Formats: sequence, C-alpha cells, structure tokens
Amino acid sequence: MSRRKLVAANWKMNGSRSANALWLTQFAQEGPTCETVVCAPFVYLPQVVAGLTGEIAAGGQDLSRHEPGAHTGEIAGEMLVEIGCRWVIVGHSERRALSGETDAVVAAKARRALGVGLRPIVCIGETLEQRDAGNTLDVIKSQVAAILSACSVAELGRGAIAYEPVWAIGTGRTATPAQAQEVHKAIRSQLAAADAATAASLRLLYGGSVKAANAAELFAQPDIDGGLIGGASLDAREFRAICAAAG
Ligand code: PEP
Repeated sequence: MSRRKLVAANWKMNGSRSANALWLTQFAQEGPTCETVVCAPFVYLPQVVAGLTGEIAAGGQDLSRHEPGAHTGEIAGEMLVEIGCRWVIVGHSERRALSGETDAVVAAKARRALGVGLRPIVCIGETLEQRDAGNTLDVIKSQVAAILSACSVAELGRGAIAYEPVWAIGTGRTATPAQAQEVHKAIRSQLAAADAATAASLRLLYGGSVKAANAAELFAQPDIDGGLIGGASLDAREFRAICAAAG
C-alpha cells in the first residue's frame, strides 16, 4: 500500500509577524515535494493561511474539547476551520505534560476535531523512564486504545497518528530508524486488528529531533509515512530540505 508522505511543521510558541513573513517567503521559493502542513500559534494562523501557497495547509497546535461557549481562553475547532485551517495537532506531549492532558482529554479532542471536519494529528509517545523500564509498546498500546475508544480507525485515517518519543522531542536525541519502525509497526498492527484496510492506508508520522540530516533514513522505514517537525521547522530552508527528503 503506497501512502503519500506527510510532513507537518510544529512551530510551537515561536514566531513573530516579521519572522513568519520571512519564513513564508523563503519556504515558497520552491514547492514542497510531499503533502505539507504548517501548525502555527493561533494568533499567527491568519497570516500563515494567507501566506502559504499551493497545496500547503495550515493547522492549529491544539483545540478545545468543548463546543463554542463559556470557556475563557480556549479556541474551538469551528474557529480554526473558519480561518482556513484544515489540520490540528492533538495531544502533543508538551500539552500532556505541561497542561495535564490525559489520554481521555486527548481522545475527546480528536473526536471534536473530526466532528468539525479538521484532520487531527494525534500524538502519542513514551517517556524515557517508560522506555528504560521496557514498557514502550505497552504504553503506546494503551494510548492508541484510548484514542480508539473515541474515534474509529476510518475516522483517524482522515488525519494521522504521530509517534513522538518524549525523550526525543527537542533534545537532539532522535530514535534510531529501527526503534521508530518497531513502534510504528506495532501501532499499525493494533489499528489493523480493528480495521485492516484503513490501517494499511493511515499515515503514521515520526517526531522527535528530525532534521534534514536524519529525515531520509527515518522516512525510508516501511511504516514511517512522514514526520512532525518541531525545532527544525523554524528554519524554512531546513524544513524544505526535510520535505524534500520525504518526496
Ligand atoms: C515536536 O514538537 O513535535 C517535535 C517533534 O519537536 P522537535 O522536532 O524539536 O524534537
């Protein structure tokens, strides 16, 4: 089954109007070679939507699990759709760790995203402690099970699942291609047990210190269908090189 590679930028809480304008100009100089998404801070999304060219889509980095209403400070999925987003990151490990998002909250957010027509990139991943204790596959299995309790595999197939080992995010320490492939394969088997046809076409992204220098060997793994890129996505040329590696 051939799956079109997908590469998503996660700018996290970075950017300014002038830095974003420069990034958009530099990135537009050559078209990307894979499906591409740029997830920017909420306030910059209109600028990013207006500045992206061609097929490149914009995405939020989070959304509220609630419908619009009395939730001060939250952003509803409907609002992301209205300003032109097609994608949204859900359950990033920084939100799980820093904002206390549980598996249940992440599942509810994925459900909400799908309900408003956004394509969720649902993040899962183990901590270093969990890996060192030999629990990686069990942790991933229970995170996937939590998502599947709220969303079908077919629904998740509209978006993607990102395997991001927490110990590899922003640390410069990437999972080896073999470590990443082992987990991706396990995720796909778990999805296949529920819906084999969709599991074969669902894109599984790797995230964690991906850069132009290591992207190609990660993306060459049979179950790695692209990446979610944090730090390296802040440099438009570096991000373009990662997209080229996926192409
Ligand atoms: C991320 O934020 O999803 C991520 C993978 O970050 P980094 O590429 O900086 O490790």
